[in-house]
Formats: sequence, structure tokens, C-alpha cells
Amino acid sequence: MARLIDPKCKQCRRAAEKLFLKGERCYLPKCAMNKRPYPPGMTGKNTRRGGLSEYGRQLLQKQKIKKTYGVFEKQLKKYFKDAQAKKGDARENLMCRFETRLDNVVFRLGWAKSRAAARQLVNHGHVMINGKRVSIPSYQVRKGEAISLTDKTNKSKLTEGLLASLKKFQAPTWLAQEPEKLEAKVLGEPTGEDLGDISSIGLIVEFYSR
Ligand code: SF4
Repeated sequence: MARLIDPKCKQCRRAAEKLFLKGERCYLPKCAMNKRPYPPGMTGKNTRRGGLSEYGRQLLQKQKIKKTYGVFEKQLKKYFKDAQAKKGDARENLMCRFETRLDNVVFRLGWAKSRAAARQLVNHGHVMINGKRVSIPSYQVRKGEAISLTDKTNKSKLTEGLLASLKKFQAPTWLAQEPEKLEAKVLGEPTGEDLGDISSIGLIVEFYSR
């Protein structure tokens, strides 16, 4: 299976934006984007940003979304085709595809500190949908599905202290999290505010619509 092997902080520095790929560290002063907010490499410090063409901005946005959600070109193209084929705003549909990926949902529920950690939880068979183990991070969750962790995972060190930290955690409104349990239900597809600012997603739609 292909993997993104570029160090995570370098991916942010190249994108000139925090992509929050490392969990807690991303919120601390030691985040590389605070200490070295310029592209990696010998000449990075002297690189002048800005003045990108429209095409350049589209490419950059595509890179950012791929790195944020850990998807590859082929998958992104497929998501775009599906988003365009579906009724409604293609930008919302595309963002919805990213948000409803199982690894993203595990991250949004606060069960993992980063999407990469969530992907690992799923890959290693710790997550169940409607009581059945699902180990495909790109699995798209649907309305009414119940998400939980296996009994073995619930009793393991992996979830130590997780319930306590979830007391302060706010899951998105389209996911209902059971208090005192590592269980959740999908109430529907994320829409509107749930998807955040989707204006930059328009650049990706424009890129593939050419
Ligand atoms: Fe990006 Fe997080 Fe590294 Fe900061 S700490 S550069 S946000 S991955």
C-alpha cells in the first residue's frame, strides 16, 4: 500500500499552512510552523511565496487536502467524480466524502489524536461498524451506522484515559457520541457549518473541471 513518507512537519512547511498532522504537538509552541515558517531545504528561508497563478493555487490546494486527509491522487479524482455526479454543491459533496471517511470520523470523535493515528486504529482492526470489524480507513460511514471499538481495544492500553479526555471534547453535531462509552452513531451527512469553510475546495473543483 502506498504511503505518504514525507515527514509531516515538512508537509506543512511546504504547504505554508498548519495541516495539523501530528496531534497535540500542532497546538504547542514547538510546532515547526511556529519555529520555521518557511519551506524546507537549504534555500527554503530565502524562498519568496505569493504571486501564485490560478493554476498554482489550485495545485497547492489539492496538495493540502490530500495531505490533510491522507489520500492519493487516484482517490481524490474518484471523490471528485462522485461529488460531481451527486445532486447539490460539488464543493459540499466533495468535502462530505472526506469527512465521512472512517479514519476521519474516528479522529473527529476524539478517539485518536491525529488522522494518521486514527488511520492506524482502523487499519489494525480496532474499529467496528454495527458490531463488525472494518479495517478500511476510506470506508464511508452512513446515516444510522454505529461506530465502536472492539472489546479487546476497550480493555487495552490504547484507550487508557480516553474516556476522561472525551469529557472535554466536542464531537461534530452529525455524530452522536455515547457518554461514558466509546460508541457513537452517525446521525446524518455533514452539511453547511459542519463542513467548515469550503471556499478553498472550489479550487479543487475548478482544477478537475478544466
Ligand atoms: Fe504541521 Fe503539526 Fe508539524 Fe505543526 S506540529 S508543522 S501543524 S504537523
